[in-house]
Amino acid sequence: MHNNNKELTLSAPLSGPVLTLAKVPDPVFASGAMGDGIAIDPLNDTLHAPCAGVVVHVARTGHAVTLRADNGAELLLHLGLDTVELQGEGFSMLVKEGARVANGQPLLRYDLDKVAQQCKSLVSLMILTNSQDFQARPITLKSVKVGDPLLHIVRRLASGVPVEVDLSGAEVHGHIRIAHRGGLHARPAALIRQTAQGFKSKSQLHFAGKSASCDSLIGIMSLAVGEQEEVQVSSQGPDAEAALQALLTALSTALAQDSHTAAPAPIAQRNRPAEAGVLHGVCAAPGLVAGPLFRLNAISLPVDAGSHDPAQQLQALDTALSVVRSEIDHTLTQARKHKNTDEEAIFAAHLALLEDPALLDAAAHSIDQGSAATHAWSQSIDVQCEVLQQLGSPLLAERANDLRDLKQRVLRALLGETWHYDIPPGAIVAAHELTPSDLLQLSQHGVAGLCMAAGGATSHVAILARGKGLPCLVALGSTLLDQVQAQAVVLDADGGRLELTPSTERLAEVQQAQLDHQQRRAQQQAKAHTPALTLDGLHVEVAANVASSAEAADALANGADGVGLLRTEFLFVDRNTAPDEQEQRLAYQSVLDAMGDKSVIIRTIDVGGDKQLDYLPLPAEANPVLGLRGIRLAQVRPELLDQQLRALLHVSPLSRCRILLPMVTEVDELLHIRQRLDALCTELELTQRPELGVMIEVPAAALLAEQLAEHADFLSIGTNDLSQYTLAMDRDHAGLASRVDALHPALLRLIAQTCAGAAVHNRWVGVCGALASDPLATPVLIGLGVSELSVSPVQIGEIKDRVRHLDASECRRISQGLLKLSSASAVRHACHQHWPLS
Ligand code: PEP
Ligand code: MG
Repeated sequence: MHNNNKELTLSAPLSGPVLTLAKVPDPVFASGAMGDGIAIDPLNDTLHAPCAGVVVHVARTGHAVTLRADNGAELLLHLGLDTVELQGEGFSMLVKEGARVANGQPLLRYDLDKVAQQCKSLVSLMILTNSQDFQARPITLKSVKVGDPLLHIVRRLASGVPVEVDLSGAEVHGHIRIAHRGGLHARPAALIRQTAQGFKSKSQLHFAGKSASCDSLIGIMSLAVGEQEEVQVSSQGPDAEAALQALLTALSTALAQDSHTAAPAPIAQRNRPAEAGVLHGVCAAPGLVAGPLFRLNAISLPVDAGSHDPAQQLQALDTALSVVRSEIDHTLTQARKHKNTDEEAIFAAHLALLEDPALLDAAAHSIDQGSAATHAWSQSIDVQCEVLQQLGSPLLAERANDLRDLKQRVLRALLGETWHYDIPPGAIVAAHELTPSDLLQLSQHGVAGLCMAAGGATSHVAILARGKGLPCLVALGSTLLDQVQAQAVVLDADGGRLELTPSTERLAEVQQAQLDHQQRRAQQQAKAHTPALTLDGLHVEVAANVASSAEAADALANGADGVGLLRTEFLFVDRNTAPDEQEQRLAYQSVLDAMGDKSVIIRTIDVGGDKQLDYLPLPAEANPVLGLRGIRLAQVRPELLDQQLRALLHVSPLSRCRILLPMVTEVDELLHIRQRLDALCTELELTQRPELGVMIEVPAAALLAEQLAEHADFLSIGTNDLSQYTLAMDRDHAGLASRVDALHPALLRLIAQTCAGAAVHNRWVGVCGALASDPLATPVLIGLGVSELSVSPVQIGEIKDRVRHLDASECRRISQGLLKLSSASAVRHACHQHWPLS
């Protein structure tokens, strides 16, 4: 076996199925309190030495022996559980303390039947008792025979970090309860890793006798820390105290997407009577659709002939990894641009997994041993998947799917294959388990629904399916994969049922329901290009929120009356150098060009708070949401704003360009920008001035709407921030997500006051926050005096349709009453009563 001063590969001491410690039915071993290691449920009757070494201890009762390997690793080999109680009966020790043994040498023979009958379990352990100095990584978790490679032992460097790291200063410690829903699974683990990487110090998490470096996502996940469990954190290095504090905060702050994307309650599967021709599963995304079943297969590799050139294979793996890395980077950029936080968090975790030392080291090790890059990568992922699956946490078991995603993507890159399935639009895709990147591809192919043999309702793919509105069932069982390709099925995701042999009537009924839905949408779309007037003739402009010219074109095609908000901070997110004036001008002009003759509201850059740009690093702030964000940038980087205003003044025609200022709290901020605009217009010899509007997104601005409206051409209410600042609740706080509701009567009062203030100066008021896209809120906003709604491009037809069914004077009358209600839920309830949704 491979052996040097640091590393050691241990061979299997017994034959039988392999288990991780977490699966061992003994709390002390399972918790890792005795050290890292592995277990085997033995099928043979002799325990063999897993490596050469010295016998340092033999149990008096002959059921256990400890070896010291030549690299110093100490290994306890323990046969069965609670076997000490047999008092030596049935065991014969074949070696003595102090003896030197060879790798594979028999150490202990036992009476398999007798011991099996009398002890709690035959599950036997190989424990690394000096785990503080060494780390154990399983090579396989399948069945092994004596002598098969089983565990890779690596010496930990001081604190488990490379020697070149500066470990000056004392080690600092802290402990904290985990706030993340479901514990430390992939996304929180990625956040922890990212936090740790912001510091020079090295940090570790410690839980139930096990430790993991904060550099390893898999290491962190493998600790299997549950929600509300307490972990210890240690940091060492020049900025240890800061690193520790940042990690404690990251561990105790739940992720936003864990709450607002909460899975629908799983349908109880047990005790459900079997129905002929129906597979039962768990609803991961609701909906009812019919279509042909399309079976999707994963890549399977041929047997590896072995003896490849390691240098070549390593190079191939490296290239494939960088291809996948840049693909994921692209997905991330898009997600950030579209403010799709779910997608962003999921693929950020994938990116971190792709760099995980546990995966890369294992793959490199196999390549060193002569494996092909494909097999090495595949095997290293499989081992980690099994580790995650054996941890006993369903949530972590589902994270194995993220690893499988990376397995497939890297294999595809290695094999030079592209994703090429000829899937008929409207198909219902069946697979063992779909991965997040499969899902993104499938949704572009126009599939109708998804079903999986495995998977869970909290998997990343389920989150994405809900986001895309694709009905999805998981955990249908392997029978799903035996179904005939192209058979017509009904996917009733709400009911947790996949109907394999629907009658023609049933198929017709579901198709009708789908058609009705599509028809309603088509009707809305058909009228999306005409202005939206209420029943009593009030025109409400329905514009779109966009982040690029491509989205603007999409918005125009969907019937947008204009762009109500272009978030310029997202135009250049994928770069790390600042765009110059010319680049900015071209970007703004292309949005204007994409909108035909419609007007475009361009908001000046809104960085700070929750929005960070790589090319515009701002000083760290104790409380960034209350710091130098939005228009306050003018205070610290006036030249940046000047540059943006110049670029804006160069677009044509200027009459279609309106400028919007974010986070205004005082009239002076507006006056200052007005003066700058005037000065620049004079300098550029422009006779025309673009309209200048103010965002109403802090309570101060709403309360001063009248004074602001005196100097502004229009007001646009940002309900996202207005909720945050009015309710004093972080807009991204998971625990508060359901309470950050812009229909809160306090916000309605601020909206009413904004409209009243604007009316004094004959200014119009729009809403560009998320509330504008909520059809339940449409009548209230109209009733309070809003005349422009800027919504997400796909919802234009729906919101226009909603406007057309409302009577503005009735909206006004009823909305006044809503201001007197005492909670957001009371407002929602009243809205449902007065203006039911179709
Ligand atoms: C808002 O705050 O409602 C808004 C539209 O701006 P953003 O979401 O970009 O902060
Ligand atoms: Mg805002």
